[in-house]
Amino acid sequence: MLKQLFQGFFRGRRLRPACFHCGEPVLQEVILNFAGESRLLCCHGCASVLQAIAEAGQTAAYLAEKRNRAESGI
Ligand SMILES: [Zn+2]
Repeated sequence: MLKQLFQGFFRGRRLRPACFHCGEPVLQEVILNFAGESRLLCCHGCASVLQAIAEAGQTAAYLAEKRNRAESGI
């Protein structure tokens, strides 16, 4: 009984998509068009960060930074 509950819990966590900006599991979807694509975000806070980056013309720098982090595994 308890074991089944735990299995369900972990399965649920794995199935949740990650926020494009912060990587947290998305509980309430926020969609924002960023760098020409629809991005899935976890909250309006992350959406406003991306909007600020786009307005400042830092989209390319942000994406490059994101790629660097993914490659270095941080
Ligand atoms: Zn987020």
